[in-house]
Amino acid sequence: MKSVKEIVETGMCEGCCECLGACSRNCISMIYSLESGHPIPYVASDCIECGECVKACGNRQVQKAENL
Ligand code: SF4
Ligand code: SF4
Repeated sequence: MKSVKEIVETGMCEGCCECLGACSRNCISMIYSLESGHPIPYVASDCIECGECVKACGNRQVQKAENL
């Protein structure tokens, strides 16, 4: 996956906020999702899709999908 935006879009985000500090460009902020009932990362448009935030995600489902 290119960024945590895709983790949210695939419904795998669990709202743990581990990705919040992972972006060196400060593209990630957490917003509350009424739909999921927990915080989700919002990725700003200046994201370069480097994937660093995906590596920081501790979600096992994501790690498995990415073979981490
Ligand atoms: S993909 Fe890279 S630039 Fe985009 S939010 Fe994640 S860490 Fe930041
Ligand atoms: S680290 Fe992963 S599961 Fe946790 S909030 Fe970020 S995208 Fe969601």
